[in-house]
Amino acid sequence: MACGRGFYKSSSQDLQCSRCPAHSYNDREGSWRCDCEDGYYRAPTDSPAVACTRPPSAPQNLVYNINQTTVSLEWGPPADTGGRSDVTYRIICRRCSWEPEECVPCGGNVGYSPQQSGLVDTYVTVVDLLAHANYTFEVEAVNGVSDLSRTQRLFAAINIATGQAAPSQVSEVIKERVQQRSVQLSWQEPEQPNGVITEYEIKYYEKDQKDRIYSTVKSKSTSATVNNLKPSTAYVFQIRAFTAAGYGTYGPRLEVTTKEEATATVVSSEQNPVIIIAVVAVAGTIILVFMVFGFIIGRRHCGYSKADQEGDEELYFQFKFPGTKTYIDPETYEDPNRAVHQFAKELDASCIKIERVIGAGEFGEVCSGRLKLPGKRDVSVAIKTLKNGYTEKQRRDFLCEASIMGQFDHPNVVHLEGVVTRGKPVMIVIEYMENGSLDAFLRKHDGQFTVIQLVGMLRGIAAGMRYLSDMGYVHRDLAARNILVNSNLVCKVSDFGLSRVIEDDPEAVYTTTGGKIPVRWTATEAIQYRKFTSASDVWSYGIVMWEVMSYGERPYWDMSNQDVIKAIEEGYRLPAPMDCPPGLHQLMLDCWQKDRGDRPKFDQIVGILDKMIRNPNTLKTPVGTCTRPISPLLDQNTPDFTAFRSVGDWLEAIKMDRYKDNFTAAGYSSLESVARMTIEDVMSLGITLVGHQKKIMSSIQTMRAQMLHLHGTGVQV
Ligand code: AMP
Repeated sequence: MACGRGFYKSSSQDLQCSRCPAHSYNDREGSWRCDCEDGYYRAPTDSPAVACTRPPSAPQNLVYNINQTTVSLEWGPPADTGGRSDVTYRIICRRCSWEPEECVPCGGNVGYSPQQSGLVDTYVTVVDLLAHANYTFEVEAVNGVSDLSRTQRLFAAINIATGQAAPSQVSEVIKERVQQRSVQLSWQEPEQPNGVITEYEIKYYEKDQKDRIYSTVKSKSTSATVNNLKPSTAYVFQIRAFTAAGYGTYGPRLEVTTKEEATATVVSSEQNPVIIIAVVAVAGTIILVFMVFGFIIGRRHCGYSKADQEGDEELYFQFKFPGTKTYIDPETYEDPNRAVHQFAKELDASCIKIERVIGAGEFGEVCSGRLKLPGKRDVSVAIKTLKNGYTEKQRRDFLCEASIMGQFDHPNVVHLEGVVTRGKPVMIVIEYMENGSLDAFLRKHDGQFTVIQLVGMLRGIAAGMRYLSDMGYVHRDLAARNILVNSNLVCKVSDFGLSRVIEDDPEAVYTTTGGKIPVRWTATEAIQYRKFTSASDVWSYGIVMWEVMSYGERPYWDMSNQDVIKAIEEGYRLPAPMDCPPGLHQLMLDCWQKDRGDRPKFDQIVGILDKMIRNPNTLKTPVGTCTRPISPLLDQNTPDFTAFRSVGDWLEAIKMDRYKDNFTAAGYSSLESVARMTIEDVMSLGITLVGHQKKIMSSIQTMRAQMLHLHGTGVQV
């Protein structure tokens, strides 16, 4: 007998018809099977007797824990398993660049424990992520019919920024010069420095020595000479880099055999320590005399003078005395061309490929491109060009930046590759800083970094400034807009110029003391009587700290320059930005001490920040207790909050009216009750976007301060 509708018989031997299992149907008589309803499926191994099922819903309550470059994810099972018991989980990992915001699959370099897919338990650990990188993780619950479904995937997702990690391997080591007793090596910075490399360690041992005794040599740059080796001996060298996160792993072994011992009767200096001492003593004296003499001459007309021959440069660097390198003002050169070639390498224009325009400089376009020097890896560069029709003075001022930059060599100071002066356009070629200027970068990524990441940026800037002040260079225009950021979030000091170049800073305004000054960033004594020193740079550094911690907010908001000068003179200082650890705000206040002798030195600032990074507990801000000094240093354009009649009016004014219902539902019906809210209260309203939480909280704090200031209403902060 044939089965009726809604029934089936899977084989002719079945005596009875069976009812279609759940989520299946048939509308024909005499069916052998039932079809699944829309959105339901049968896995190939499912018998016709079991119910049709569907993919599970998304996992719930995804949480994460991050430790440097390892992320652990944990979640709860989906609310709906789709009617199946074979639910497993799979992880999709994508790495997102800061700028432009693009995500790419993480690929095979990332490890998953226990595995990436087919996870039975509700947790996974993801290892070997890149440091200081942005990742998106999607956790998807899957069952036996997930792959049959064409509906949209349901997953739980989170965005994570990783922390610091040790640098990657130093892999490209070149033997520059091999002698009987010394080997000179050079290498490239590791592909992922993951921070500022403060030192390299060169480990070496005799290849054939049985009990392998290692020796090490340290170098602050990407080259080193290892001395005191034996002639005709095979040595093995390995190099690793050091950052605040520790040592990276050693790169591959490089084997080098020193030269044979000379058999000639002339005793080489390498063999005779007495001769070495004598040569060093003589050379040292000559150089000392030469440096002092050069310096004196320099003061008279051209500044530092150095012979042009190749050999001299080597001599200079070999016998350079630590700590004696001093910045030389290119203005002291009678011939500016000579200054630029003293400090900057002339590049062949054919080595430079301009790719696109990335900004507008003061003298012409700033482009990005590639520089390929013979025998070297090609590198990304920024190319500043001098626009056509320039005057001789403009050319001199333009190249002046290169003459200054070329004297510096520090990981937190933008590095000059060289200049093109013998051709048109005249160009300055600088290392490429993928994320552009710090102020714009922070504004674009408002609220997206951890405090440790922000402090890491500040540490870098302080280290760059320590180096510049040690060299006797006073920047005069230190501001977040003049700091550049690379793809590893390393910040580097840039924008070097003479005072007249600084006058072109759009932030600089004329003061009564003559010359233009970026008032908001400048110390009182520099504004009042043009006393620019490293201590006035420290004041500006404090303002940069404030800019960083407030994600690129304008210092003193929209107050006029005159009001800023007056307020500072009256003793007012910028309040702590939101969520700023009190220790950091205290450091800012120290940088803004009226008496410049009371301000910390850059060396001390680096030390304080290092300590904070090592003890992240000191950077914790008690939630909702970020105190702001109640001072007139409030945004002058901020609406008078007492003018609002309702919470709705206020939310509309700050363009957050989409949360009106959230406030009403939680009982915040008056502005007074809103003014008492803490960040926890704001979060408990169900506002999940961190940017919105911050915007609302920031406005509440201003409202609170304004109420106190204007009306003395006793709102307790
Ligand atoms: P400047 O003339 O130095 O102020 O440069 C103008 C703009 O060009 C800056 O605000 C940056 O956005 C960009 N820029 C300058 N130098 C670099 C660099 N080395 N790498 C990337 N962008 C740069």
